Amino acid sequence: MSSMIGRLFCKHQQVLRQATTCIVPVRHLNLHEYQSKALMADHGIDVQKFYVTNSSSEVDPLVKKLNCEEIVIKAQILAGGRGKGEFTSGLTGGVQVTKRLDTASDVVSKMIGYNLKTKQTPADGVTVNKVMLAEALDISRETYLAILMDRAYDGPVIIASPEGGVDIEEVAEKAPEKVFKIPVDIYEGITDEIAQKVAECLEFKGSLVQAAADQVKALYQMFCAVDATQVEINPFVETPDGRVVCIDAKIGFDDNAKFRQQKIFDQEDDSESDPREIQATKYNLSYIGMDGNIGCMVNGAGLAMATMDIIKLNKGSPANFLDVGGGVTEKQVFHAFKILTEDSNVKAILVNIFGGIVNCATIARGITSAGKEIKLTLPLVVRLEGTNVDEARKILSNSELDIIAADDLGEAAQKAVASIS
Ligand code: GDP
Ligand code: MG
Repeated sequence: MSSMIGRLFCKHQQVLRQATTCIVPVRHLNLHEYQSKALMADHGIDVQKFYVTNSSSEVDPLVKKLNCEEIVIKAQILAGGRGKGEFTSGLTGGVQVTKRLDTASDVVSKMIGYNLKTKQTPADGVTVNKVMLAEALDISRETYLAILMDRAYDGPVIIASPEGGVDIEEVAEKAPEKVFKIPVDIYEGITDEIAQKVAECLEFKGSLVQAAADQVKALYQMFCAVDATQVEINPFVETPDGRVVCIDAKIGFDDNAKFRQQKIFDQEDDSESDPREIQATKYNLSYIGMDGNIGCMVNGAGLAMATMDIIKLNKGSPANFLDVGGGVTEKQVFHAFKILTEDSNVKAILVNIFGGIVNCATIARGITSAGKEIKLTLPLVVRLEGTNVDEARKILSNSELDIIAADDLGEAAQKAVASIS
């Protein structure tokens, strides 16, 4: 429900999808709040007036241009939970509401260039490069609104809770009856009835029901128009002067729609992504980084997951999930190997290939050329079985690489763990 749960869900789905189709790696594009809000404003959705900067020296003129009594200063990172986050500069709170406009540049200078740690970031936090300056609004009530593409409903579902804000995870856990799920028929689209129902679930009253319903409709229309998989507005608020406004925004996009949403995908900021994953995507490898020390190169998502399990069973710890897929080329094997060895946490490599569509000789040639070029010194355990395995074994034994051969998966995992203990 929170964007954190969304992230984990996406990762899980990503692995599952690979397990079932084993073809293309999937990464879901996320945008920053300021990018999402610009898109929302283009679709007639009510957001606060804002500017973005990457330098504290630009703050004073921008605050002047906002021309308001109170501002909100918001660190732009892809993770949520910023309000309760902490900076390595000592500043507390990645979202600061203030009437002291003269102190804004000081606050921004304690955000930019420092790491912000929140419940959703890695332990060291994420470096803040940009800050949003927006007109602050008085808020009389915070609600939660999300639209998700949900397999369980075969289509979009609106998730609504009248108790939004920074503690939404707690509401979902302790008071699930306050979280409503309203499916939308993708062919029919959002009707007035559904939009009204959502507004009522969110406990808007009087004229605010229509104002909220209008925002819900506009959000749904944008959700479809931009090929989103997730739009999360937390908080979705009412103001004392009768407005319904999206205070925060998180939008995730369907990578399959990249070809028709190029302008949106061009905005991607991958500075917060795992560099190993970015590299793997370039070569069409299905890779997910983890924090163990045995680098795995496997074909087939099921075998990749089984390999990670057997490593664990032998009290080792995998450094990654890597499925080189069925149609793997020598060049891809080469790059897969480079990605594994460039990771300083990796202390041993386990190659586990079951050649069906995959030609074991292709894998062996890829390993040989990579091993030679990078002057491999790490222990390398190889288990090859299936198509063209005899030729593959010959290639490897002539390669002058120091290879620890294994006959089956259990033995391979045991030897990989033993090689570093
Ligand atoms: P998050 O912590 O990363 O989810 O960041 P949000 O943008 O959701 O901001 C966190 C909290 O700050 C919100 O739930 C609000 O309570 C508060 N906040 C954000 N913007 C404003 C504003 O313009 N006015 C007021 N009064 N509070 C705000
Ligand atoms: Mg929020």
